Amino acid sequence: MERTLAILKPDCVSANKMGRVLDRIENAGFKIIGMKMVRLNAATAGKFYEVHKERPFYQDLVQFMSSDRCVALVLEKDNAVADFRKLIGATDPAEAEPGTIRREFATSKQNNIVHGSDSPENARIEIGFFFSERELVENA
Ligand code: UDP
Ligand code: MG
Repeated sequence: MERTLAILKPDCVSANKMGRVLDRIENAGFKIIGMKMVRLNAATAGKFYEVHKERPFYQDLVQFMSSDRCVALVLEKDNAVADFRKLIGATDPAEAEPGTIRREFATSKQNNIVHGSDSPENARIEIGFFFSERELVENA
């Protein structure tokens, strides 16, 4: 079974879309094995997105990600990383396939509702950013 890290971003939480997005995730066959509400400060949000620190959108992204609560999720499924990226759709909701979570719920390229790890290796790193192994229910 593969794992991926998802984050329900501040736009999802503050607009009360968590239930609907979680419903989509569960219905797509992902098992939620870790779940945590966090309010990231700018330093922590900046560290999570450090790979983008030279990009023009970085400062706005850090501000957005620290603007309200997030919910970090560890999801388990065969092929979880690629299947979750497919479920959420392209970064820009205008380019995301119909039926994807971002196409349905996101309001802009920045405010795009949900994060998903982009490789199994990054999934391991990102899961470790938010969770210790003993917080993941199957291993408690
Ligand atoms: N982002 C943005 N403007 C851009 C590209 C990305 O605001 O031109 C934000 C957006 O919230 C995105 C995050 O930065 O989800 C990380 O960008 P990435 O390219 O890794 O997209 P993702 O992997 O989330 O689809
Ligand atoms: Mg990314």
